[in-house]
Formats: sequence, C-alpha cells, structure tokens
Amino acid sequence: MRTPKKLGLGIAGIALLALTACGGPAGSTSEGDPEESGAGAETSADNPYGLEVAENPEFPEGSTMAELAEAGSITIGTKFDQPLFGLVGPDGSPVGFDVAIGALVAAELGIEFGDIEFEETVSANRETFIQNGTVDIVVATYTINDARKEVISFAGPYYEAGQALMVAAGNPEGIEGPEDLEGQPVCSVEGSTPAARIVDEYGADLQATDTYSNCLDPLRNGQVVAVTTDNVILSGFVDQNAGEFELVNEGETFTEEPYGIGLSLEDTEFRDWINDVLEASYEDGTWDSLWEQTAGTVLPTPEPPAVDRY
Ligand code: GLU
Repeated sequence: MRTPKKLGLGIAGIALLALTACGGPAGSTSEGDPEESGAGAETSADNPYGLEVAENPEFPEGSTMAELAEAGSITIGTKFDQPLFGLVGPDGSPVGFDVAIGALVAAELGIEFGDIEFEETVSANRETFIQNGTVDIVVATYTINDARKEVISFAGPYYEAGQALMVAAGNPEGIEGPEDLEGQPVCSVEGSTPAARIVDEYGADLQATDTYSNCLDPLRNGQVVAVTTDNVILSGFVDQNAGEFELVNEGETFTEEPYGIGLSLEDTEFRDWINDVLEASYEDGTWDSLWEQTAGTVLPTPEPPAVDRY
C-alpha cells in the first residue's frame, strides 16, 4: 500500500484557518440554501471552477455542515492519478470532475478552493479513510453498492459510469469483450468493483495493483492483455497516451457504476444536504459547467443521474 500523499494548506492557508477558527463566521447573509450559489464566478487559480462560495451560510447547530463551515476547511479524498476525474497537475493540485464536485460541496459550505485539503485515496482505502476520519468525504470514481453501504454512506449518484476494457492500440489479442478474458492476465485495482467482477464473473487471471496508472506499463509491455475499470477512467488514459491504447468495442460497458460521494455511515443529515447541493447543481447548470470544464473536454455531456435518497 502506498503512503497517501497530502496536499493542502500552505502557511497562508494555515494562518487563515487559525483566524477563522478564532473568529468564527460573522453575521449571516444566507440560509445555506444550495440554490443561492453555483458556477457563475470568474475562474482563477484560487477558484479554478468558477464556483460562487456561499457567504456565511447557516446550518443546524452541531451538524457536520456547521462544523466544517466553522472550521473553514474540509478534507476531501480523491484520486491523484486518474485523468479527467482526479489527476495531480503540474502545480501539485488535483484537477478533474471529482475534484470539481468536491469543490462544489466545499463552496456551498463557504469554503474556498484553497482551503480544501485533498488527500489521495486509492480504491482500497476509501471506506477506511471515511471510517477513521482521515477524510470528511470521498469523491473518487466511487461506485455506490450494497457492500459499501454497510460501512459508509453515499450521497448521489452524480455520474453513471460502466465497466469497460482497454487494450493495446490495434487490439493485438483480438479481445472483443470480457468473455475473452478467461484465464488471461488482466490488470485492475484491488478494492475496486471491476477487479472483483472480472475474476468472479469472467474468470480472468487478475494482476492486481493499487492504482490504475500502475496498469499502464504492464499493458505496454504485454504482461497483461487488458486493463479493466470504468469506461471514463480508461478514456482518460487513452486520451493522455495518444496512439498507445484503445477501448474494446469503443468503450462498450458491461456493468453500471453509479458514482457517489462517500461519507460517514450515520451522518444522514450531511448526506441529505449534499444530495440537495447536487440536485440544485443539476437545476441551475452548475453540474454541466463543472463537467464541461473537466471530463467534458474529452467525453460527451450526459444528463445528470437522479439522486438516490435510499
Ligand atoms: N468505480 C469503481 C469502484 O469504485 C472502479 C473505479 C475505482 O476503483 O475508483 O470500485
């Protein structure tokens, strides 16, 4: 297991946090209603997605929203190696649709982008990081499923992906679908839904690693015949490595992977509020804007999925 890298507050950010913690939010200009803000501000290094940051939002006393707003900071678990969704850029800060969705939640809490601490979560440590409080939320291509719902809670979904296959350009092994992978070496990531399914349902010889980017060299040098995970993650790798890889059957999917925002199991109030934030972003065009600024540079813009208030 890799040691999670930390990104986050510089000295200025820490100083600001300390000030916020002493003074607390002053006055009130909004009731914390998610419909009151959204995309519409200018984009800048400090506000890369052009989100309007709620000013002194009010939340029920003792709620997670109130605690985070008061602290002026939130720790968000995301991927650091997945183009289009969560990829650390040259400035050391992650970019992508998951990062933008995390920034939306932060903005509605009145937290500036620069006061978000991004923590790398890999597929296998997401539940643990939520359970032990390493992160406040996880936004990390994180499929909502029943097993995970036993130990953490999900807001969303905010996107629907599906499992697909990536092979070397030209598809030298002639792989047409997951049925062709029985007994074949296939790379995926431990703790992920696609890794489990390619073994349990298709009998592949799984070569498991901790991050999807670690599957690229084994595919390049022929140690594995395919990489499997969600179509949108694979599309990011195809896009980033021009001419090296391709998706089988143009990215045909064979599962449904609804992406949720992971949070603490018992925190229904926080989950309901995040669901309100997501729904408001679907209505006011913020979700489309965040998509188009990130994954939408490569992928078509879908309809946002209906939130599941299970
Ligand atoms: N969405 C799948 C999952 O949550 C695969 C992608 C990932 O591992 O992040 O397991």
